[in-house]
Amino acid sequence: MTGTRLTLTGLVLSTGCAPVAKALIDFWQCNDVGEYDNAGFHLRGHQFSAPDGSYTLETVYPGLYPGRTRHIHVKVQAPNRPVLTTQLYFPDEPRNASDGIYRPELLADLLDASPAKRAAFDFVLDLG
Ligand code: FE
Repeated sequence: MTGTRLTLTGLVLSTGCAPVAKALIDFWQCNDVGEYDNAGFHLRGHQFSAPDGSYTLETVYPGLYPGRTRHIHVKVQAPNRPVLTTQLYFPDEPRNASDGIYRPELLADLLDASPAKRAAFDFVLDLG
């Protein structure tokens, strides 16, 4: 897999800040040049949050494709609860301002910009 290495970490939490273990987290994204693999499904996969609610995704920085800013698609589901379908975004992206789907509250924190990137995002689920 070519591209800039990205390690995304974070927590799955309830709105009361309790860690959510065994949440299903399903990620999918385009590759370094903005292409989705709809045949072999590279860059799509799922994992489960750890007992402390944490997760780690080792991937590449998603590329750009026409009409969208840089993003990663995500579904998060606490055990036996509804699925949250959302997207994550990155700071300092020129296209954030012109992407109609972009939401600033879905910005990951960029912890390390180079050469390999590290970013963080906590998912908060309303399990009330
Ligand atoms: Fe997309």
